[in-house]
Amino acid sequence: MSVITIDGPSGAGKGTVCARLAAELNWHLLDSGALYRITGLAAERQSVALDDEPAVAQVAAQLDVTFEPGIDGVAVVLAGEEVTTTIRTEEVGSLASQVAALPAVRDALLQRQRDFAKAPGLIADGRDMGTVVFPQADIKVFLTASAEERAQRRFRQLTEKGINASLPALIEDIRARDERDSSRAVAPLKPAQDAVVIDSTSLSIDEVCDQVMALVHQ
Ligand code: C5P
Repeated sequence: MSVITIDGPSGAGKGTVCARLAAELNWHLLDSGALYRITGLAAERQSVALDDEPAVAQVAAQLDVTFEPGIDGVAVVLAGEEVTTTIRTEEVGSLASQVAALPAVRDALLQRQRDFAKAPGLIADGRDMGTVVFPQADIKVFLTASAEERAQRRFRQLTEKGINASLPALIEDIRARDERDSSRAVAPLKPAQDAVVIDSTSLSIDEVCDQVMALVHQ
């Protein structure tokens, strides 16, 4: 059973690349960010204060969540309700990064993440997949891109949906999030020592996938 970890900051293209690789190899996919998003959403719905670490960790440990394959990718179902699009909002993203900073929450989600590793293989998408969750992974990739490029990609996504956005504000936002993610005490965002760093600033999704597939076939 093989594990490929793809870590990196938001906007580097991890989600798309991981979904493509999982489909191409016919392997399982772990979207670890979704677990933090679901934990944040569940805590809010249960009126649990986000600074009450033991209580949020209990929410994480008892999550009633399933990932169900659907026509448009994976559907996320929390306590019987589909929350696939709800968890993608900026608001839930912010809840996710708050609960992700709590060590007890990260511990509570550790085994659940490891349980995704099943034959024939797993593509694990996150921030600490290669450093903490799957330190023995066969291939580790750290996928990054410049803050300007990641902001541009986000800007295009938002404007395609008809949502007004300011590019300078998005760049600022991404820089602030990078700073928070890489300086936090628990599981700071950094490449594993044995990770291959791929900078996607001037690469297409296809080119990134080709580079990872070349590592698989090495
Ligand atoms: O990747 P995504 O944007 O869905 O992740 C939401 C948040 O969850 C991130 O901003 C990050 O703070 C946190 N996260 C994490 N560790 C992971 C995946 C996500 O801390 N492995």
